[in-house]
Amino acid sequence: MSRRSKTSNGSKELKPSEWTLEYKGFEPSEESLREALCTLSNGYFGTRGAANEASASRISYPGTYIAGVYNKLATEIAGRKIYNEDLVNCPNWLPVTFRLAGGEWISLEDSEVLSNTKRLDFRRGILFREIVFSDNKGRKVRVLSERIVHMEYPHIGAISYEIRPEDYEGNLYIRSSLDGTVENTGVARYRKLRSRHLKADGQGFTRDGIAWLSVVTSRSDVTIAQASKTVLYSNGKKFSPEQTKFRKKKKMVRRDIKIKASRGDSFRIEKTVAIYTSRDRGVKDPAAEAKKSVRKAPSFAVLKRKQVKAWEDIWKTCGFNVDDGNDVQKIINFHTFHLLQTATRHNRKIDAALPARGLHGESYRGHIFWDELFVMPLYDYQMPVVSRALLKYRFERIGKAREYADEEGYRGAMFPWQSGSTGEEETQVLHLNPMSGKWGPDYSRNQRHISFAIAYNVWKYWERTGDKAFMDRYGSEIFLSIAEFCSSLAEFSEKDGRFHTHGLMGPDEFHEKMPFSDEAGYTDNAYSNAFIVWILLKAEELLNSMSPYKRRRLMEKCGLKESSPELWKEITRAMNLIIREDGIIAQFEGYFKLKELNWKYYSNKYGDIHRMDRILKAEGKSPNAYKVAKQADVLMLFYVFSLREVRYIFRSMGYDFRPGMLRKNYDYYIKRTSHGSTLSKVVHCYLAHVMGRKKEAWRWYLDVLDSDINDVQGGTTPEGIHTGVMGGSLDIIMRGFAGIDDGDGKLRIAPKPPSRISKIDFTMNYREKEISVSIKEKSFFMELKKSGGGKEPFVIEVYGKKKELVPGKQYRFSLKKGG
Ligand code: BGC
Repeated sequence: MSRRSKTSNGSKELKPSEWTLEYKGFEPSEESLREALCTLSNGYFGTRGAANEASASRISYPGTYIAGVYNKLATEIAGRKIYNEDLVNCPNWLPVTFRLAGGEWISLEDSEVLSNTKRLDFRRGILFREIVFSDNKGRKVRVLSERIVHMEYPHIGAISYEIRPEDYEGNLYIRSSLDGTVENTGVARYRKLRSRHLKADGQGFTRDGIAWLSVVTSRSDVTIAQASKTVLYSNGKKFSPEQTKFRKKKKMVRRDIKIKASRGDSFRIEKTVAIYTSRDRGVKDPAAEAKKSVRKAPSFAVLKRKQVKAWEDIWKTCGFNVDDGNDVQKIINFHTFHLLQTATRHNRKIDAALPARGLHGESYRGHIFWDELFVMPLYDYQMPVVSRALLKYRFERIGKAREYADEEGYRGAMFPWQSGSTGEEETQVLHLNPMSGKWGPDYSRNQRHISFAIAYNVWKYWERTGDKAFMDRYGSEIFLSIAEFCSSLAEFSEKDGRFHTHGLMGPDEFHEKMPFSDEAGYTDNAYSNAFIVWILLKAEELLNSMSPYKRRRLMEKCGLKESSPELWKEITRAMNLIIREDGIIAQFEGYFKLKELNWKYYSNKYGDIHRMDRILKAEGKSPNAYKVAKQADVLMLFYVFSLREVRYIFRSMGYDFRPGMLRKNYDYYIKRTSHGSTLSKVVHCYLAHVMGRKKEAWRWYLDVLDSDINDVQGGTTPEGIHTGVMGGSLDIIMRGFAGIDDGDGKLRIAPKPPSRISKIDFTMNYREKEISVSIKEKSFFMELKKSGGGKEPFVIEVYGKKKELVPGKQYRFSLKKGG
């Protein structure tokens, strides 16, 4: 395998350092961050990059999560019974450890670590570790290990674990286990909540030496089975150990091996594990399936070869080459890797979506939010099967969304702010403020914009892929049902002849309700109102594009009345926005009356003021009283929609969209935002770029890239990656730097790369076509690599001018200053 590699369009060779994340030295306080960042996944399951010799402790947190496997438990908190659904921490398949005669078992927590290297190779999807332990008698042993979560075989994980006693001769005991005694204790804030999700179901060993373990989730009744086989090598040759003992106890199986080691010997254990659940299609007996599958699994060398090939195939069409002469390329690869391994083509067969924090940790309990909106552009353009699968997850829960709308007094389909297994609302009702240690009400479920994001994702997927079959079967129904929900949010007022919304929260979660109000949410949240108008305009377009028969059938299915489209039209014309004379759009009614916060005072007092909500609450105050936002709310409109679309939405409502409004609102709101969510940085970066504030945009971009790799929020990344910020960093390349705009059924490109970047290359799918884009300092190139079967040339707007591309020809364009 050559050490250099080709990506997307093969035009740039990347250095190995641009494909690896390497840590040297052992830093107990850093370990859980490294574990999250070194997670390996294949869409079916993800496993944190914890050491094989570790168990849940103050240093480490091994976690394995299977997409879609949740369990809900009740806990008494502050005199109330609250229910929490968790993405279940499944049995730990990693444990391999050893001891020398008379010594204690090696463990990351208790043994001395003399040297330590952890290296994630994201080009190939392999985690390497090299570690030298000193046991309690001071004897040194070097361990070299490699780990795979297989991209080709989604049920398989494999470990190669080599032990080299450096100055020892005598008995060596190796222990390999499957451990189902694990609980969900990865997030300190949740530790008061019940966390034991797994019940024993069975464990044992087959005659041919396969260890297996089966557990069941206590309420959702999902059986999870693992089977493992181990093969031993001594100095590179297969061999049978002197003694093997199989031990089993409740929720745990163990294999203890005894070996005689001579000076200079090396022993390698290959542990291959198969994981199945009762949720898998066509699987009746997960344990039997796991045993069968692991028995058939090839050697580690073959698995590794296939893993490398599977990733090689992915990188052929996915990814971005970005030259800044610094670390940007590496982090972009790292982000792309994590997103492409969290949801994969295997998701076609899995009824699950993208947890906001990946399959990397337990933050937000593995729930699914609106963060997909930031990630979808990557999947839509580079792996549309994934987008389709994620949207299908929503479709499968449309019945629950209809019930939810109905329960809350609305029509159509209202999706929950936090979604898990069933599609019911999983947002907690109480939330712990770690600053004050107090539990308080959580109103965030009033972010009904989650449904808007789903409609938007459906529409964009359709626009970008032209997948008519999807729209016919699922997409139109989701879209129209959400449109109907939107229209039921709007209330007409005779007083001003306008439609208003009430009780909604925008993405800024610090604002939950008006001061002194008993009701959660706000009147006329600008982001929500404008978004509703866009959805209704598109819904009308969608209905008009259908045959009368299809239109009638769908209207019936979605519970629409004959008069619904007429009402939608009225709403699009008279929805209310509050815009001050100077062009500042109010986040909601009453916003301008809120108090200004003394930012300087708080910043001097606390230093880190990202979570101003927690600070204010701990001081006995309420963020509701202040002009203080967690993240972009009004500004979010300009992230989701192009300026052309915002103008169109505003004009439809009868408002003037004045040039310079973006700039004014940006300057106004940025002074009042604490960026308590990493998503805020993505939005501000994109907008600074759109406004041509190059230096500012670049500073934001570096912040965006820093978010997870350097855990800038100080402790959130160890609990799971932020898929939204990772997706946003790639979306900025496509929609921002490359200036791709796919609104209204047309593809447009107007590159405006930051001056710090000398080159951007990527390949994108658009309606079954494959287009390569290569942006350099003075010009850019496009080539239609695959024409999708059509004979017509492909029409694209380049800086506003129509251009026809014919397959196989490379086109060169001059880069316009200022885009
Ligand atoms: C953000 C939400 C986001 C959630 C999950 C919160 O901190 O405010 O917008 O959906 O995290 O990532």
